[in-house]
Amino acid sequence: MNIVLFGPPGAGKGTQAKELSEFYTIPHISTGDILRENVKNETELGSKAKEYMDKGELVPDEVLIGIIKNRLVEPDCENGYILDGYPRTVNQADALEDILNKLEKPLEVVLNIEVPEEELITRLSGRRICSNCGANYHLKFSPPEKDGICDVCGGKLYQRDDDKEEVIKQRLDTYNNQTAPLIDYYKRKDILVNIDGTGNVEDVFEEIRGVLDNL
Ligand SMILES: [Zn+2]
Repeated sequence: MNIVLFGPPGAGKGTQAKELSEFYTIPHISTGDILRENVKNETELGSKAKEYMDKGELVPDEVLIGIIKNRLVEPDCENGYILDGYPRTVNQADALEDILNKLEKPLEVVLNIEVPEEELITRLSGRRICSNCGANYHLKFSPPEKDGICDVCGGKLYQRDDDKEEVIKQRLDTYNNQTAPLIDYYKRKDILVNIDGTGNVEDVFEEIRGVLDNL
């Protein structure tokens, strides 16, 4: 099962990827994780990527695709893969298609998890984290017993800068600008499936399973 997972920040992509990976026993391949792993293991690609990351620059496409290619030839990808965070541009999608054809692992489906922007803002802007123990809360979905105080340790709760509403809107704009062309790209190839991401984790997972079981 060869899958690309799309979805804006807050759509629950990471959670679904984890569930899918366990259910179908195929690896969840997140480019962010691979980059960190390659840097940690000081691979040739990792040290190349680190040069850019240390300068605060984006890792160039040819380095990224090399990293993905190396990951896809590992034995655990024999039955498939779930790509998350890649591709992000049409150029990357072209490069990926090339590699996948060479490896004879062509994409079967691109799952596009859709959640209305208002809902994403509610989900992301309500997140609070304990400054002491790191416990996670949500003002609407899992509030602490006492306002601003951690149930576990009594520490003070704070909001990550990333989760402030203005920043969330910027993140969503970036996502929309980057991925809109990719959605058309995969629609034209007839492998894009939209998934309603507004339900709970189980509902969304069931919808995805329905799609995958009919491939
Ligand atoms: Zn705490």
